[in-house]
Amino acid sequence: MNKKKVTLNIEEMGPDFLMIKEVDNEGFQAPISMPDLSGNELKYIVDCVNSGWISSQGQYVQRFEKGVAAFTQSKFGIAVMNGTVALHLALLALGIGKDDEVILPDLTFAATINAVLYVGAKPVIVDVGDDDWCISPVAIEKAITTKTKAIIPVHLYGQVCKMDVIMEMARKYNLKVIEDCAEAHGAEFNGQKVGSFGDIGCFSFFANKIITTGEGGMCVTNSELLAEELRVLRDHGMSKSKRYWHEKIGYNYRLTNLQAAIGCAQLENISLILKQRDEIEKRYIDGLKDIKEISFQSNFEKRKKVTWLTSALLSPTINRKVFINKMSTVGIDIRPFFYPLSTMPIYSQFSDEQENPVALELSQRGINLPTMTCKNSDFYATIIAQIKAFFYQTKEGNQ
Ligand SMILES: *Cc1c(COP(=O)(O)O)cnc(C)c1O
Repeated sequence: MNKKKVTLNIEEMGPDFLMIKEVDNEGFQAPISMPDLSGNELKYIVDCVNSGWISSQGQYVQRFEKGVAAFTQSKFGIAVMNGTVALHLALLALGIGKDDEVILPDLTFAATINAVLYVGAKPVIVDVGDDDWCISPVAIEKAITTKTKAIIPVHLYGQVCKMDVIMEMARKYNLKVIEDCAEAHGAEFNGQKVGSFGDIGCFSFFANKIITTGEGGMCVTNSELLAEELRVLRDHGMSKSKRYWHEKIGYNYRLTNLQAAIGCAQLENISLILKQRDEIEKRYIDGLKDIKEISFQSNFEKRKKVTWLTSALLSPTINRKVFINKMSTVGIDIRPFFYPLSTMPIYSQFSDEQENPVALELSQRGINLPTMTCKNSDFYATIIAQIKAFFYQTKEGNQ
């Protein structure tokens, strides 16, 4: 882009741009995400404090577990401190450890691979699909060896992995499946909720996730045996029948009643939260439809994605860094995608391929837009107007 002074063609920019001037843009702040705590959160927290039940004992933990299990069409829910330890416990409960290989996608948050490393297993990083950005079944099959014990499909940015193909492959090769659902609460494949396909589904309730408990996580499963094992591992490995008797090395990974109380309140509103998040994404798609340089996530037959953050790709002609920096000067926090795991020196040894081209390209072009249900339409109109202004300026600047 050259440096000549840019004059904006307000006509061409449409009514959204005019709105920028009406909204007081001074001091406008759009973080990437904020929790929506407008339900019964405070009421339930006060109840915990008044009753004295603030640790991991207490009725909200069980209520939250039952609620998440029901919501994900699973029999059991085991609440834990965060999504990372949910993955850790899932691997432990499935007996995965030294000499085992676990296949996971290159494009994900680092917690997915870290959990595999905690249990001493070998992560095997594979590429993702260019359509859904999720783990590629073709790449999984290529990476399977006699040592492969499990696959961790990650439902990335609210999108659903090809669960029919993945589960079929798991049966064929006798592999365990741990679904990383940290970014996809409520997403569905063929009308079935994510988390209920594999042996264990893992959720995160970090403050920026679809629903939150501040920090928090959950394992869901349909196996009573696994549920029992997860509970023991979560609670110091203590025998359920003999107090202070330990048969295995466990952890203290329990969620507190205070956090579960927030979770219960969040869960009461999850349908509304998901609907509102979808509406926010639609708002962006509609508001930015003239900007050909931005393309949003795809929808696929049989799969019902959810909106976590609004995720999109910039065309390769756009300098993402310039865009993100410009937006930050007007108070808008736009986040780039994760780096592919294989590009980070501590993980690169675990990638089968020199380079996973799809993950690399998506990682370089991907952006996440501010997405939270506690803001009104003016908030999104302002962001959209600022993004449009950037692209029109860029165009004029290039002429
Ligand atoms: C957030 C996240 C996690 C980890 O969850 P925490 O609760 O932050 O530990 C794991 N996997 C993915 C894909 C995530 O986005």
